[in-house]
Amino acid sequence: MTVDVKKGQPIYEGKAKIIYETSDPERVITYFKDDATAFDGAKKGSIKEKGVVNAGLSAHLFRYLEQKGIPTHFEELVNERELLVKRLTIIQVEVVVRNIVAGSLSKRLGIEEGTELSDPVLEFYYKNDELGDPLVNEYHIRALDLATPGQLKEMGDLALSINELLSQYVGEKGLDLVDFKLEFGLFGDKILLGDEISPDTCRFWDRETRKKLDKDRFRRDLGGVEEAYQEVYDRLVGGR
Ligand code: UDP
Repeated sequence: MTVDVKKGQPIYEGKAKIIYETSDPERVITYFKDDATAFDGAKKGSIKEKGVVNAGLSAHLFRYLEQKGIPTHFEELVNERELLVKRLTIIQVEVVVRNIVAGSLSKRLGIEEGTELSDPVLEFYYKNDELGDPLVNEYHIRALDLATPGQLKEMGDLALSINELLSQYVGEKGLDLVDFKLEFGLFGDKILLGDEISPDTCRFWDRETRKKLDKDRFRRDLGGVEEAYQEVYDRLVGGR
């Protein structure tokens, strides 16, 4: 690992990751678990080697986005399950971008899953587990002081740029980026992309067969969960 940075105590354990402090107050280590949850934690399970796939894929895609000018928290893949990242103050707004109707949008608007959207849709959710991450708009975010209008504009613009970059990248490997969720945080006064980019947080469909290659296989008990995660890894990063 980067000279002198040593792993310290765990400071936070979430559903899929554990965050460790390091000897550098401005950096933390994120450890990717195999644990999987869905429906606000009501469904629990484990996906073998998910942590390895998600850490490796996240590192690969963060590196790619950085090269393309997107500021991220990523610094280094420390080992197969751990990333060294900048310590962010996470903005409590989850940013979702959609290209094809699926999941909650399909239910909310009564539109068949798989319907192509003629333009990407940008959505914001209040990051609050107890409330089940409710959908909010710019007015809620502003009135609740979750983010300033300037920060929100920057997050939205970054999310749409990331959508173009990732859609193109995964498209070249025969995958459609159906939708995905991002989290951003503050590092000083800079907004950086945080969290992870993986089949836990993105929907990927095979462009030809329309096969789901993401967490929906776990959520909906479709089988072949581990194989799907591995296939995304192999297509986007290369065999391991
Ligand atoms: N998503 C996520 N975390 C959440 C909610 C959604 O990573 O807490 C991702 C999800 O994997 C999908 C996208 O955001 O790629 C849109 O999810 P949706 O609103 O359709 O919710 P879902 O059907 O997953 O409940």
